[in-house]
Amino acid sequence: MERTLILLKPDCVQRRLMGRIISRFEDKGLSFVGMKLMQVTPELAKQHYAEHVEKAWYPTLESFITGGPIMAAVLEGLEAITVVREMLGATSGLKAAPGTIRGDFSSSRQMNLVHGSDGPEAAEREIALYFKPEELVDHSPTIAPWLRAADE
Ligand code: ADP
Ligand code: MG
Repeated sequence: MERTLILLKPDCVQRRLMGRIISRFEDKGLSFVGMKLMQVTPELAKQHYAEHVEKAWYPTLESFITGGPIMAAVLEGLEAITVVREMLGATSGLKAAPGTIRGDFSSSRQMNLVHGSDGPEAAEREIALYFKPEELVDHSPTIAPWLRAADE
């Protein structure tokens, strides 16, 4: 089992798309083990997007991600990090394939609705950035035997 961080970005919250996006992850069989509505501060944005802080477009990314509430969540599932990234699609909604979340809902390279951790190290770092350990709820969904075979 793997855990990954997702953020339903301010455009997702403002466009009233949270429910539909959450449904896609539930439909896939991923489990929510943590979730909260919050406001990203400029300090948190700089920590989260440390790899992009020096880029010319970082200031616009920071004003976007701090421009309204976000929904942060931790998803759990087999190969959850890769599965979520594949479900999101390419970074720009203009390039993302139809059928992906960004491909279906976004027409922007910046306002692409959902963040997903891009690897195991990022997932661990980002989950710790947004959640205290006690905010994550360990549980095994009772439907688990109907989502995958016992040896998967
Ligand atoms: P991803 O979210 O797919 O991992 P990146 O790590 O490249 O994408 O970028 C982080 C976020 O910054 C993107 O999701 C998007 O919201 C924003 N972004 C990416 N490229 C640009 C750009 N050229 N101009 C403005 N914002 C961008
Ligand atoms: Mg990235």
